[in-house]
Amino acid sequence: MPSFWTQAASVFARYGTTASMEVVTGTACPCIAGRGAYSPEWHRLNPAAASCAGTGLISRTTTTTSIKAMFYEAGFARDEIRRNFSQEIIGQVKDTDVFMIGTANASTGAQVTLSADANITIGSNKYKVWHISNLMTGDVCAQWAILRRLT
Ligand SMILES: [Zn+2]
Repeated sequence: MPSFWTQAASVFARYGTTASMEVVTGTACPCIAGRGAYSPEWHRLNPAAASCAGTGLISRTTTTTSIKAMFYEAGFARDEIRRNFSQEIIGQVKDTDVFMIGTANASTGAQVTLSADANITIGSNKYKVWHISNLMTGDVCAQWAILRRLT
């Protein structure tokens, strides 16, 4: 009998919702030095510097991966969220946010490791990976996340 994890991976491959994951990588912009966040002030003082367009990254590359996962409306998972998260996180979850379990590469079925910077598009709605929870290392269903709705 295959492991439960292997079975879950095949369920994602067959029945998972297809979505698109976008990860932007690049070089840290000097504007984030010392504060770890974008600084419009730094760019005003250094007008000749490359623009990071508010992202804190220069020389950006966007990688898009087609993924499969299970998605639930956050309202549906509210009790689960309430049991497992700090008050700080619970208070910020909105009904328009989404709870995601997965994540598999849509073509290969291999695990896709979520990153906190990723954007996920499901249908015509765009979300940002907001909170990642690791159940187990190195498996396709080892992570789940709360996605914050952007559009
Ligand atoms: Zn910058």
